[in-house]
Amino acid sequence: MIAEIISVGNELLIGKTVNTNAAWLARKLTILGFNVKRITVVPDDEDSIVSEVKASIGRGSKLIVMTGGLGPTFDDKTSESLAKALGRRWVINEEAYRMVKLKYERKGLPLTEHRVKMAKMPENAKPIPNPTGTAPGIYIEHGNTIIIALPGVPSEMKEMFEKYVEPKLKNLVKNRYFVESKIIVKGIPESTIAPIIDKVVKSEPLVYVKSHPKGLELEKPVIELHLYTSDSSREAALERLRKVKELLRKEILNFTGEFIEE
Ligand code: ATP
Ligand code: MG
Repeated sequence: MIAEIISVGNELLIGKTVNTNAAWLARKLTILGFNVKRITVVPDDEDSIVSEVKASIGRGSKLIVMTGGLGPTFDDKTSESLAKALGRRWVINEEAYRMVKLKYERKGLPLTEHRVKMAKMPENAKPIPNPTGTAPGIYIEHGNTIIIALPGVPSEMKEMFEKYVEPKLKNLVKNRYFVESKIIVKGIPESTIAPIIDKVVKSEPLVYVKSHPKGLELEKPVIELHLYTSDSSREAALERLRKVKELLRKEILNFTGEFIEE
């Protein structure tokens, strides 16, 4: 099941904010069993958002998770752009309206035009409650694609994802188990390990082996090997991973170095 993440925000593109939301979501979705194929960052600009959402649907994404741009300010364009991309009207969502109204009423604040804006969504969307912030998230089923838009504020995004989105997605990807493992190799340069990885991956292409250099290639090489795979049974996935680890151990210990499983 292919998933894509679209991060919206000028602050991400000028280097003011690090896109931690995308990394966090990518991890979550991967562990859930999705195949995250692409992460894109677009500015707070309608045309950019519209074209990226359309392109992602065109690429056959089963799931698109967006963050940012749901707030009350003029530059929060995600909801409106989504409506445009999907060819739906952008309307006040009654349920979202009640959520937003309640939040402000409790504080004795009036519902201004900017606050009502947070209750506007593409037609037939479902709002996702926002327990700590004010802007509800958006859940849309569009043909074969599920589109979810969450706020940019990381704490709100995470809470909403874990409380409301994750349980729904779990039902969607049944029987997909992601397993991973980490190995630290000390004293052998990455360039020496590279052909070993090639060989091992050729013999077991369903395990992805990625080397992350952590030390100094020639003076003090430390390589972290990250291995992962997924399967319809957890046992099968673990067994495949185990085999590859064994192969790596054998090959790597032909050289003088340390092989530490974590
Ligand atoms: P708000 O209601 O606060 O306006 P919003 O959905 O409009 O929420 P943004 O305005 O896009 O969200 O972002 C709010 C803040 O969240 C940003 O100032 C930024 O610090 C942080 N943020 C936004 N996107 C990301 C991201 N991808 N990764 C990490 N932090 C982010
Ligand atoms: Mg905002």
